[in-house]
Amino acid sequence: MAAHYAQLKDLPAVTTDGVKVDLMANIGTHMDVDNALTYGAEGVGLFRSEFVFMGRQDIPNEEDQFKAYKEAVEKCGGNLCVIRTMDIGGDKPLPYLNIPAEENPFLGYRAVRISLQRRDLFMPQLKAILRAGKFGKVGIMVPMVINVAEFKKVKELIEEAKVELTHEGKAFADDVQVGIMVETPAAAVMTPVLAKYVDFFSIGTNDLVQYTLACDRGNASISYLYNHFNPAVLQLIQRTITSARENGIWAGMCGEMASDPNAAVLLMAMGISELSMSAPSIPRVKEKIRNISSIKAKEILADVMKMEDGDEIKAYLAKVL
Ligand code: PEP
Ligand code: MG
Repeated sequence: MAAHYAQLKDLPAVTTDGVKVDLMANIGTHMDVDNALTYGAEGVGLFRSEFVFMGRQDIPNEEDQFKAYKEAVEKCGGNLCVIRTMDIGGDKPLPYLNIPAEENPFLGYRAVRISLQRRDLFMPQLKAILRAGKFGKVGIMVPMVINVAEFKKVKELIEEAKVELTHEGKAFADDVQVGIMVETPAAAVMTPVLAKYVDFFSIGTNDLVQYTLACDRGNASISYLYNHFNPAVLQLIQRTITSARENGIWAGMCGEMASDPNAAVLLMAMGISELSMSAPSIPRVKEKIRNISSIKAKEILADVMKMEDGDEIKAYLAKVL
């Protein structure tokens, strides 16, 4: 890490006029937390729990998962550790589940859709996370939600998991925050309604850009279209943050866009509370935020929201920031 970045480690990501954004880390295993802390992460905004399921021959049981989550939660100290429930399918296959091949895996049987159909998989995971919550501050985050009904079913299952844990005499946290990833256009459009049920939103731009622009996130031949500054994407993001604010919940982002310093300035101006990213990106995002006022950022945002083209926005931001 460059020396001037190392000096930023314990400083907050705060604008020159006092607007603070929490900078958190995206992790794949509990072993990543120590590294994240060296970059100044203020907790974990996305623990991709599917990695606990990968690289093995069978489904990890409740105890295996509990150990992995507990370790991550403990390492976060008193800071929040947001554990995303398994996001299997799409670009993350899991051979031992024997999911039949699909024509459109990104539009298919994946993430919360699997969790809601496979209670045998989902219950042990929920119980493991609730138990880990006893060792720090935990959030449960549900991927790929498209409607309120899915979220309500997840909440019901969380309550059932608590009842089972009580009967089994296992300690668990009763106060975990439960939120969703906003990574489908349907969820983003419905955030004014979803905000009445969830504790937080975390915007997953890797998928949100893909679904909004009908543009495969991994297809190099159309990567020129895949732009998080596309006005359609920016409007969905702004809507999500506004819905959160109007309903008194927090909105964050854990997609790759959060690690783009120029995007971070726009998101801060929109009112985002938290940005979660791969740990090495934290210092440069922090530096950008610490060197601008929220007033200036809002002026830039106002200009950007009048523009009609994502490439134009990208170029404009590169010029003014
Ligand atoms: C996202 O879609 O932005 C996200 C963070 O999730 P993943 O990249 O794991 O799909
Ligand atoms: Mg995603």
